[in-house]
Amino acid sequence: MLPFKLVYSDDYYLPIGAHVFPAEKYRMIRGRLMHEQIAEPSDFVTPSPAADEDILLVHTPEYVHKLKTGMLSGYEEMQLEVPFSPELVKAFWLSAGGSILASELALKDGVAINIGGGFHHAFPDHGEGFCMIHDVAVGIKRMHQEGKLRRAMTLDCDVHDGNGTAAIFPPKSHSAQPLPSAGGVTRGVRAQLRDSSSGDLEVFTISLHQANNYPAVKPPSSIDVNLPDGTEDEQYLGWLDQALSSALRQFEPELLCYIAGADPFEEDQLGGLALTIDGLKKRDELVLRVARSRNIPVMITYAGGYAHNVEDTVTIHCNTVVAAREVFST
Ligand SMILES: [Zn+2]
Repeated sequence: MLPFKLVYSDDYYLPIGAHVFPAEKYRMIRGRLMHEQIAEPSDFVTPSPAADEDILLVHTPEYVHKLKTGMLSGYEEMQLEVPFSPELVKAFWLSAGGSILASELALKDGVAINIGGGFHHAFPDHGEGFCMIHDVAVGIKRMHQEGKLRRAMTLDCDVHDGNGTAAIFPPKSHSAQPLPSAGGVTRGVRAQLRDSSSGDLEVFTISLHQANNYPAVKPPSSIDVNLPDGTEDEQYLGWLDQALSSALRQFEPELLCYIAGADPFEEDQLGGLALTIDGLKKRDELVLRVARSRNIPVMITYAGGYAHNVEDTVTIHCNTVVAAREVFST
């Protein structure tokens, strides 16, 4: 049995037909975890869909109303880049429920993995890039509402910039923003070490992404690492270590939300970085070892993964579970 829970439902499947987003990956991950005896049935917990009130902690009433009544405009549906259906709305409400549950379990057990979620391109008032609802933000806001946390950190290692996350949780204060530069680390906040003067939610956002990729407009995160095309394992892990260390010198989170995208992989169809499967597992280990050594609870979501061979995407996501088992079993 794993020393943490895997949040999963067969209904995470996104009904989007033939699409570059491999909606079948969630079921395949569960199957592989079972087949390779990495997990057993009792390791899985089934989420409930988020309540509308939970979704409204992040998204505007107008947007939620449009989704629930199927009234997205043609332009809005185009921005979403997946075909709209009421079933798709249900799947996104469920993934948000999954991230609420994973946040809760992480705060209780030290770590929890949502075998889904990570829809980091969703904005309060619209969806983008296959992301309708920002499940991670919903999880954070719900935990804050319940008084379970005040300070959260997001660490986004999907190959694409976490534009929705940055829009929902803009950095507290900005220094002059230099233009994004390949390989550069941009710091957008002053130090935010522990300050218990108010109960307001504070969220520190980190995004490591390929500079030359979607989205065209990248709103500032607390720390942005704009990686050049073709970045390989060693360079990537160096930048990740530096960004995470810098963040933790500035901010002490009560929950780390790790968005473990599989698309920095060298054979990804929508990514231009060059990490290996082994390098991606080392990435997961690095994040989890740092979190564990500092006793920071971690909730993990999966985000993107578009390898030419979907089995590779499944391997990368399964390896995140293996890395967590290695780090949290010892
Ligand atoms: Zn991505």
